[in-house]
Amino acid sequence: MKITKIDLLFSNPVEDGWRPLFCRVYTDTGIYGDGEVALSYGDTLNAAFGIMKDLAPMLIGMDPLDHEVIWQKMYRHCFFALNGGPITFGGMSAFDMALWDIKGKAFNVPLYKLLGGKQRNSLRAYASQLQNDWGENRKPARTPEDYARVARIAVEKGFDAIKINFLTFHPKNGRYHETEQTAFLSPSYMETVEARIAAVRQEVGKNVDIILENHCYTDKLSATQYGNMAKKYGILYYEEPTTPHPDLLSYVHKETGIPVASGERIYSRWQYRQYFEENSIQIIQPDIGNCGGITEVKKICDMAYLYETGVQIHVCGSPLVTAASLHLEAAIPNFVIHEYNVNTSMPKMTSLTKYNYEPVNGQFSIPELPGIGNEIAEETFKNSEVVTIQ
Ligand code: MG
Repeated sequence: MKITKIDLLFSNPVEDGWRPLFCRVYTDTGIYGDGEVALSYGDTLNAAFGIMKDLAPMLIGMDPLDHEVIWQKMYRHCFFALNGGPITFGGMSAFDMALWDIKGKAFNVPLYKLLGGKQRNSLRAYASQLQNDWGENRKPARTPEDYARVARIAVEKGFDAIKINFLTFHPKNGRYHETEQTAFLSPSYMETVEARIAAVRQEVGKNVDIILENHCYTDKLSATQYGNMAKKYGILYYEEPTTPHPDLLSYVHKETGIPVASGERIYSRWQYRQYFEENSIQIIQPDIGNCGGITEVKKICDMAYLYETGVQIHVCGSPLVTAASLHLEAAIPNFVIHEYNVNTSMPKMTSLTKYNYEPVNGQFSIPELPGIGNEIAEETFKNSEVVTIQ
C-alpha cells in the first residue's frame, strides 16, 4: 500500500480564533485515514497548519502501514522535532492518527483491537470546564449560585465527576487578571473562590468527584495556598496548578497532598520522563493531537504504568480526536477517567465530523467501526481552506 495524496484542511471558525485543523491521507487502495492537530486555538493556528504543510511531502510514496517508520522519519528529518514542542509534535500527531485510521480500515478492525484490545467496555467521564456553562448561549459562572447550577446540570445528565476552574471569572464581569493569580491570592479572591467551591460541594453531595483546574495561571505559591483551602471540600485531583515543570508540580503535590495532573502542554516521551522519575504528576494528561500521536501517547501511557501513574487523555478538539482518545483509553490498564469538554459540544464543532460520540449517564462506549470510527464530514471539505499535497 502507498500514500498517494494528502489533503490538509483549515476549517471555518467554530468560535472566535478557534479553527480545527485536519488531514486526510489517501492511499492507492482507495482506503483513506483522517487526523487532527489539537492546536486549533490559543494563537497557534497558522503554525499548526504550516507544520502539516512542511511534513506532508515526507509521507508521499510511503507505506501507511509502516507507522513507526513514518513517525521516525518525521522525527528525525524535521530538524526541530528533537525534544520538540507542540508545533512539530502537533503536525506529527495528525499524520500518525490518520495512519492508525488507515491500518484499522485495512485490517477491518477498530483501533482498540490494534492497540491490544479493550481493558473495559465503557469509560467513566467527567464534565469539564463547567465555569464556561453549558449550551449555545452560555454565560461565564460568576456567583456561587451559578457554580451550583452548572454542577447540578452535570449531575442531572448522569455525570458523577466534574472539573471546574473556580479562579477564572470575576464576580461582576470579565476575568481575573493573570497577575492577580500569582504569588498569593488576595483575601477577597480567596473568599470568593471558597464560596464557589462550597456551593458546588453542597449542591452535588459527597458522591460526586470534583477536579480543580487552574490552566497554569497560578504559580507554586498561589496554587499551594488555594489547594490547601480547597482540599477540605474533597478534591480528586489538581490540574495544571503551575507551569509544567517537574520541580514546581512536585512542590504543589507535597505541600497540598492533592494528586496533581498535567500534560496537555508536555510533549513526547523525552519531556515526560523526568515527571515520572520524580513522581511530579500522579495523573498524566497527554493530548493525542499534539503529543506525538497515538504511537507516542501509547508509549507514554506505558511509561506511566511503570510508575503507577494514572492516565486521563486531554480532550479539547473535534469529535475526530475524541474518538481516537476513546480507543486508547479503552486499551490501557492505567486509565482514570475521560474528559468530556463542554467547550467542544457546540454544533459548529460536532458537525465537523460524520459521527459525534456522546456519553450516556456519564459513561462513553467505545467506537466499533474500523479504524478510529469517525471521519471528517463532507460538508467540512466544502467549508474549509484545503491544501493538497501529492
Ligand atoms: Mg486543562
